[in-house]
Parts: sequence; C-alpha cells; structure tokens
Amino acid sequence: MLLQTIRLPACQNRQEQSFLIYRGDLECVTAPGNKQHKLKYHLQQALLEQKDYVATFGGPHSNHVAAFVARCVELGLKPLIVVRGETWATLTPTLSQAVRQGAVLFPSQRSDYRLGLNAEMKLAMDDFYQNNVYWVPEGGGGTFGVLGCLDWANDIYQQLDDDVHVCVASGTGTTAAGFAASRFRSLSVFSALKGAEDLVGVLNNHCRQADLSCQATVLDGYDESLHGGFGRVSDQLLDFLRVLKTLNPGIPLDPVYTSKMVFKVNQLVEQGLWLHKKTLFIHTGGLQGWQGLTNQQCPYDDYQCT
Ligand SMILES: *Cc1c(COP(=O)(O)O)cnc(C)c1O
Repeated sequence: MLLQTIRLPACQNRQEQSFLIYRGDLECVTAPGNKQHKLKYHLQQALLEQKDYVATFGGPHSNHVAAFVARCVELGLKPLIVVRGETWATLTPTLSQAVRQGAVLFPSQRSDYRLGLNAEMKLAMDDFYQNNVYWVPEGGGGTFGVLGCLDWANDIYQQLDDDVHVCVASGTGTTAAGFAASRFRSLSVFSALKGAEDLVGVLNNHCRQADLSCQATVLDGYDESLHGGFGRVSDQLLDFLRVLKTLNPGIPLDPVYTSKMVFKVNQLVEQGLWLHKKTLFIHTGGLQGWQGLTNQQCPYDDYQCT
C-alpha cells in the first residue's frame, strides 16, 4: 500500500487531525520518487525523435541523475551526464552506479555548467555525437516535467476517497506545479531552497508555460531557517527524524526535501497553526541522498553510505 498513515510527534495525544503519506519512494525500485514522473514525457519525446543518446545535467549526488540513468537504460537509450564540478578524486555512489549502468560522464566547469542548455559542453557533445542527442534540462523540468507530475498527482488523487490537503516539497517547483494543476483542491508547497520567495509566482509560471491553470489554492510554506540551507541538515532535523522513526519505523524520509517539509508541518501543528483536518504528504523519494552525509547523521540503517 503506497498510502500510509504517518504519526507526527506533535499530535500524539490529539486525534482530530490525520496525516497520510503517499510513498512515492516505494513506487519503483530503479527510479523512486518524483524524478521518473518528471522524465516520462521527456524520454517519450527522445524516442519519438529517434535519438540514440539522451543527455542531462546533474550534481554528484543528484536524485535526477540516478532516476535518469535507470529510465534510459530501461528504454534502450544511452545516457550522457554533464556533471557539475571539474575534478573528482573518486566517484560518488550515485555516479559510480550511473557508470556501472552504462552512463558516460562529462565533468564540467561550474561556470559553464550554469549555462545549462547554452553551455559550451552541450555544443561540444552535440558535435561529437552528430546531433543524435536529446537534451533533458537539469532536474527534468520544463513543460514535459510539469505534465508528467500532473499525471502523477491525478493518479494519486484517484486513490483517495476523501478530500485532503496536499503537502509537497519543492526545488524547481516543477513537481508542485503538476500538483497545483491537478484535481487536488488545496496544496501547501515547501521550498528546499534558501532564499526562495514567491513560490506561488514560480508555480504560476510553470503552469502558464505548460498551458495549464493552477486550480489548487496554494499556501507558500517557505521556511526561513531550512536547517542551514539546501542539502544541509541541522541537529534539530536529525533529532526530529529519530523521533519520527520511532513512531513510524517503516517510513524513512530523505534529508533534503520531504524531511524538512514534515518537520515544518509538525512545528505548525505544535504551534496550533496547522488547521487542516486531513493532510497528505507526498514522499518524493531521494533516500539515496543520505549517502552524501555521514553514517552518524543518517538515522536509517538501510540508507547509510557504504
Ligand atoms: C528533485 C526532488 C524534489 C524537487 O522537485 P522539483 O520538481 O524540482 O520541485 C523533491 N523531492 C525530492 C526527493 C527530489 O529528489
């Protein structure tokens, strides 16, 4: 069952509010979480254009890269990855797994990497592979990404028999835009990026570009503190996850997105500021992100670095 009840530390004695979590992390072993949904229409398009190679961009611990490589291999497409950062003494677990699955890596200077689809590296690769490359933007965003997440949201909606308030974490906002345009009627979005403001504006832009209307009421759940910033964890967050784990032994959360969202909602419940009767968290995956942290930090035995 992918829809599960989750118990929050803040409401142990209170029964009037209920919390569910949709286990996107369990949907698919090879490409867990939201990334496969963001990739769906991109990779369909690559097949339609009959390209042999598909290329994308990612950091050394990128969830996007992991899902991208798995999906490409399943579809018979050859994955190429432009990796952020010039030199590496050793490959991260994410990158060595990608190489084992047949991906070719291209280290890229940060200044060039930042140019995305306008990078010199892209021109050089298109040239080398004789324009037989379909390019997926970093994180699998764009209109195809939004449309894939819209399908995902509507699939989840169909599995519920009640109205719920949905909570989803956001990086680029592509996933959240899919939920905002879906049949769900109310939504809170929690940015994992420090300094991210006007999430509602970002979502509206994504939806407009995809020719969709954001029907859901969107609450902007931006958290000033964010536990030190994107990809960082605080002791407070790790303590929270240990408590959450004792209450929900079978529900591990990732360190970058879903955990910070659940932490924030728990805090709002504690403060009496969370008024929704029935809340649904979307678990967007990302558990391999723990490999970028130390074993002491990781509360889950199964996801420590090896
Ligand atoms: C990439 C990612 C997100 C953010 O998705 P966006 O579509 O960029 O907002 C959220 N959660 C996890 C676990 C991710 O890996």
